[in-house]
Amino acid sequence: MKRRILPDFENETIQAYNFDVIIVGTGVAGLYAALNLDEDLEVAVVTKANIDESNSYLAQGGIAAVMTADDNYHNHVEDTLVAGAGLCNREAVEVLCEEGPSDIHKLIEMQVPFDVNEDGDLQITREGGHHHRRIVHCGGDATGRETTKQLGNIALTKENLHFFFGTYLVDIITKDNAVFGALVHTGDEYKLLRSNNIIVASGGCGQIYRYTTSPLGSVGDGIAACARAGAVVNDMELVQFHPTTLVSKGKEDRLFLISEAVRGEGGILRNSKGEAFMQGKHELADLAPRDIVTREILKELARVGDPNAWLDVSSMSEEFFSTRFPTIYGECKSRGINVPHDMIPVHPAQHYLMGGVKTDLNSRTNVKGLYCCGECAETGIHGANRLASNSLLECLVFGRRAAQYINNNFIPLADEISEYTITTEHHTKRLTLDEYHKIESTVKDTMSDYVGPIRTPSGLRKAKEILTAISDRLDNAILETPYEFKVFNGVTNALMVVDGAIARKESVGSHYIVND
Ligand SMILES: Cc1cc2nc3c(=O)[nH]c(=O)nc-3n(C[C@H](O)[C@H](O)[C@H](O)COP(=O)(O)OP(=O)(O)OC[C@H]3O[C@@H](n4cnc5c(N)ncnc54)[C@H](O)[C@@H]3O)c2cc1C
Repeated sequence: MKRRILPDFENETIQAYNFDVIIVGTGVAGLYAALNLDEDLEVAVVTKANIDESNSYLAQGGIAAVMTADDNYHNHVEDTLVAGAGLCNREAVEVLCEEGPSDIHKLIEMQVPFDVNEDGDLQITREGGHHHRRIVHCGGDATGRETTKQLGNIALTKENLHFFFGTYLVDIITKDNAVFGALVHTGDEYKLLRSNNIIVASGGCGQIYRYTTSPLGSVGDGIAACARAGAVVNDMELVQFHPTTLVSKGKEDRLFLISEAVRGEGGILRNSKGEAFMQGKHELADLAPRDIVTREILKELARVGDPNAWLDVSSMSEEFFSTRFPTIYGECKSRGINVPHDMIPVHPAQHYLMGGVKTDLNSRTNVKGLYCCGECAETGIHGANRLASNSLLECLVFGRRAAQYINNNFIPLADEISEYTITTEHHTKRLTLDEYHKIESTVKDTMSDYVGPIRTPSGLRKAKEILTAISDRLDNAILETPYEFKVFNGVTNALMVVDGAIARKESVGSHYIVND
């Protein structure tokens, strides 16, 4: 997977547009970064979809931040470090937890509709790994939708933000290890967006797995593009598997999540005999960090011979459950699960990427002018296992920090930028659409079969063998459409996950390896 630019060009002059800053992604990280840039900067905001299609939009449980007097940010730091299993960057965690509350206040000022109680105080819940209630939420279990919608509504009114919907980031253009543009594909044509400041906020790569909570577009295009541009990518093997996704009878593009907040409000995991198997496994029992709960579920299923675990929510009244978790309530009902009386069938699935493009405290990568924030970045906050609801907080804190750094260190457009023409390698092999479908499917199965929550050395070797053969087939392939780019990027990222997993010999957090 050595190519620098995905499509083939021969001295191509592409229609070009100049911007002060380019942002890729309209999840919470991209939108919040956009809103924190100085309004005299002309900004291209690029997304391959629309504002309502992202991981951010799907987020349920909430955003973690210390918002009460009986808690303090040191507690939040400690919980984050414990969940991260020794691999967190403490400095980044301190920044996250100390600065996070002011970003929540800023969201409140922006009229993000956080849930409040009868007295008008924020409703604050608890999730796995947190020793205090510190999760704020919107619409019960629709935090992502409400936050993204409101940030999007505000961003769309800003004259300096120029939205490019349905526009696919293909590659980041660099010269002498500095960015100077983004090659994008929209409609049937390529465009060159020129800028010396690019923020990539393109999310994770859940869709390289068969079973994931992420939407279809999440293959990690931005991570792969940054890697081709020379950015350091780290810790890709650190993939989080959420313990409780709704078991589905049919085939689904993505699995429906049963938020950890359901356990935060009293939900209990049981096996088919009704035994509460998390008791005694960890001091926080059902609210232990996600990697631990996921493994305990898988061990319990193997021990009892069950296909899935059960989430008992009967301690909540129907009125409470339907108000507190309207999305989950509606989804369960639509599938004939009579919550809270019936137990919910659940199984672990891929949920989040802790690794990604390595960034510093100002979201800078090692490539000059290239910033990453949100799930595609590896700030070191999550270590080997992300603490619940720290992800949206990271999007806010490090999206804002990227913007503030650019505001203070803006790099104007270089003169030579206008003379740039693109020349790339020449490839000769044409694969059919069917072949791309098969490759995509094989990648997903390989990742789910061999690179899941419990890994073995022989399984990882097998995955490497399969993915290397695919990568060899793609080496000389002519890539022309966003779908082909997406498949190629998925293979690139899957290989990085597998290589990282092979290199990391010891189990840590979400990377759990057992001998054959
Ligand atoms: C079901 C679910 C529930 C969750 N619940 C929570 C929660 O309660 N709390 C929490 O903290 N976290 C939660 N998470 C995790 C969290 O939602 C994500 O980690 C976070 O939203 C990532 O935000 P982001 O802005 O980095 O990326 P995303 O929100 O994924 O946005 C990525 C953006 O990049 C765009 N993009 C991608 N590739 C390209 C390309 N090639 N060209 C152009 N645009 C591109 C996409 O279209 C999208 O606009 C949840 C995740 C899921 C899936």
